[in-house]
Parts: sequence; structure tokens; C-alpha cells
Amino acid sequence: MKERFILGFPPECSDRPITYHLIKDYRFKVNILRAEITPGKEGRLLIEAEADSKDFERGMDFLRRERVLVYPLKRRLNIDLERCIHCGICTAVCISGALDMERRNWQITFNVAQCVGCELCIKACPLRLIQLNFLNNLNG
Ligand code: SF4
Ligand code: SF4
Repeated sequence: MKERFILGFPPECSDRPITYHLIKDYRFKVNILRAEITPGKEGRLLIEAEADSKDFERGMDFLRRERVLVYPLKRRLNIDLERCIHCGICTAVCISGALDMERRNWQITFNVAQCVGCELCIKACPLRLIQLNFLNNLNG
């Protein structure tokens, strides 16, 4: 599994090689996307981490034991409907039915609750109008 989240390191964690242990002991593949470290304050890392589900759970337990805060990022699909030409190509690849074509007016509709985040529609749109954004409650 692959997830993005923010790790919050309390000041007392700053001298512990926590990311190193995630990689070495729990076989996480870690991609650091952003880092904010202020001496004496909580440090934050925005990371993308990949591991098999068992290692992932063990790694999360390790973080909790080390009192590292984990802020999951919510993924939200954005579609630029102003520029959309309602060609319907994205609905053809959307197996969850989140993207659909309204037969009444031949406009596409997007039901966010049905979206499983497979990203197939992103590649399918010829105008590149679909993007996946990551949201968190720390920095908006
Ligand atoms: S990400 Fe996948 S499930 Fe979500 S709208 Fe696109 S194709 Fe459908
Ligand atoms: S593939 Fe792109 S242009 Fe076509 S309906 Fe979907 S979002 Fe609109």
C-alpha cells in the first residue's frame, strides 16, 4: 500500500533516527515531499510511504510508540468542469461509477463518495482536466 501523510515530530524526537528505522526495520519506501524543521519546535515531514500491509501496520505502531503524530492526507479529485467538453471518455474508465454521463443533458457528473481514487480518469482525459489533490488540516 502507498499513502501520503504528514509526520509530526515532537521536539524530544529530534535526535532519534525515526525515518531511518522506518526504512530499515519496517521496509518502508519513503519519498520525502516536504520538510519543515524548526529547532526546539515540532518538525514536520510530508511523505509518501509504500510498504506491504503488514509492514505498514508495524511501522505505524512504531511511530505511535515513538510518539510521532501521523496526520493522514485526504485525496480529492478535482475536475475543471468549466473547460470540460463532456466527451465522456473519463466515464468509460471509471469502474466505480463515480463519473457518469447524465443522459438528460449529456453532461458528466461526479459523485465524490463513489470515487475509489484509482486515477484512471486522470490519464484518460484528453484535455488533462482532472487532478488529484492532497488535503490536510494543517496547511489547507
Ligand atoms: S479516480 Fe477512478 S474511481 Fe475516481 S473518478 Fe477517477 S476513474 Fe473514477
Ligand atoms: S475526459 Fe475530460 S473533457 Fe472529457 S468529459 Fe471527462 S473531464 Fe471532461
